[in-house]
Amino acid sequence: MKIILASGNKGKVKEFKSWMDGFEVLAFSEVMEPFEIIEDGNSFKENALIKARAVYEKLEDKSAIVISDDSGISVNALNHEPGIYSARYAGVDATATQNLDKLIQTLKEKGLKKTPAYYTAAIAIVCEAGEFCVHGWMHGDAIDEKRGNNGFGYDPMFIPDGFDLSLGELDESVKKELSHRSRALELAQILIKTLTK
Ligand code: IMP
Repeated sequence: MKIILASGNKGKVKEFKSWMDGFEVLAFSEVMEPFEIIEDGNSFKENALIKARAVYEKLEDKSAIVISDDSGISVNALNHEPGIYSARYAGVDATATQNLDKLIQTLKEKGLKKTPAYYTAAIAIVCEAGEFCVHGWMHGDAIDEKRGNNGFGYDPMFIPDGFDLSLGELDESVKKELSHRSRALELAQILIKTLTK
């Protein structure tokens, strides 16, 4: 079964490719000319559906399944920001490092050394059978420094509940076990298997 992933985020593409057992996962840039998708929804779900729909509309082979992920980190003490603005927290064209540095700086300015935070992932599925969306969450703490180089994005400043190390320091197998994306993906895979029976 061919799954087209409507994302250009290298970290996400790597996780989807290694975590989806039994599926051939291709980034949309591998099957068509990459194009910009304007994510102007008001929720993770809306943005995930916008991305998957945009890629499905351009697909020649309508029997394929398109999935997308819209995700981000929310800090409770910052009114749940950056949330859906995680990818552009430091500006529209900000790099992952600039976004990470800005969130660390914001925590420092507020005197928050370690404060509750969570990741959200919405995974949308668009295929001949229709449009679907599932979610997953991972709770923990955001810290005001970078620790380790594993994962991507905000991982060096996030300590999952039950651990003392950041996702930047923990082995990738831990993230596979308990991340927002892997939890949403578990549900997505059940849905995809049902849709393709
Ligand atoms: P999106 O590609 O528009 O969904 O943006 C996701 C944003 O949230 C990017 O800034 C990512 O770096 C961040 N993000 C989402 N999931 C993760 C994760 O698993 N680890 C670290 N950062 C993440």
